[in-house]
Amino acid sequence: MRVILTLEDYIHYPFLPEAIERVKSLGLTIEELGEGELGEEIIENAKNKILMAIKERILPPYLNDPDIEVASFLASLIILSIIGDSRLIERYSIVFSKSVSRYLSEDYPEKIIYIGSKLLGWQIIKNNSTIKLRVWNYVNHLPEFKGRWKLINKPLDRGWIHVTYKELVRLLENGIRLYIRDMIERVNISPSELPDNIYRAVEEISSTWGSMQTELEKIRMRLGKGRELEVYPPCIRTMMNEIKAGRNITHSARFALAAFLLNIGLSVEEVLEIFKLSPDYRDDIARYQVEHIAGLRGSRTKYTTYKCVNMKSLGLCRWHCQGISHPLQYYFKSIRGKPPYVSEES
Ligand code: SF4
Repeated sequence: MRVILTLEDYIHYPFLPEAIERVKSLGLTIEELGEGELGEEIIENAKNKILMAIKERILPPYLNDPDIEVASFLASLIILSIIGDSRLIERYSIVFSKSVSRYLSEDYPEKIIYIGSKLLGWQIIKNNSTIKLRVWNYVNHLPEFKGRWKLINKPLDRGWIHVTYKELVRLLENGIRLYIRDMIERVNISPSELPDNIYRAVEEISSTWGSMQTELEKIRMRLGKGRELEVYPPCIRTMMNEIKAGRNITHSARFALAAFLLNIGLSVEEVLEIFKLSPDYRDDIARYQVEHIAGLRGSRTKYTTYKCVNMKSLGLCRWHCQGISHPLQYYFKSIRGKPPYVSEES
């Protein structure tokens, strides 16, 4: 498949080997990043990308210069690698991959397939309007384990899964997130080689991230201390622990958790405070969703969490809670001092 990459592609997809090769061929060295206006511009741009990902969960508008954009992207990976905070790396990878996903969704199919196969090594076949993807590429990058994403709802043809372009882009978003995380882990530069301006950027970003983490840590402490956690069923406790550890949970898990918490009496604000710990938290989106589940929007229906049987089919439960068919039933039994017997399913 022949794909022609433009300079605009290098701006939108600065992780592409072709874009990185182009910057390498310019002979820009780490020492030069510490010298002159060009070095300052690149580090400033890299710093702004990370700060905006931290504060706004989006990236700043791109500059029109592909070389500066690609060099800034690479500098941002160096900065993140020096800071070495896994939550910050996760935050940046998520924000970056979402930005890439927006460009991919407007790009032409051959380029989408090219990025999936050349960059991520996925096996993808395009036949007229049909796209097929190897089942392991599909399963390893699923955004959800429910609805249309479930394997049983997908035509499977000797190890190949049929997907739409939109679905392929969503799967690639996950693949690119992991790819960027991997790039950061592979940065291999001795701190002693780094110029002062990179250290100044590291200090500023660490300080901003650190003060935000202090706020979030207070929420984590409150969550950790909350005696009520002991009376939550294991499915809900696991989701809470994932969020406390700064990991994203699936949409179905978010729904289950929000509905559970609202039904045991937490307010919308209290639920949002917990979701703030997620690396991809966006206040506007989360608020809309939680208010919807609370019955404050749309149909004004207050939702309850899924029944145990549905939690299992969504991949959110691996336990057997004796005599329990709904997580709220577990909770109400527990607060009456009669916690159900729990065993883990093999
Ligand atoms: S059996 Fe029900 S209550 Fe128990 S962990 Fe699973 S979903 Fe939660």
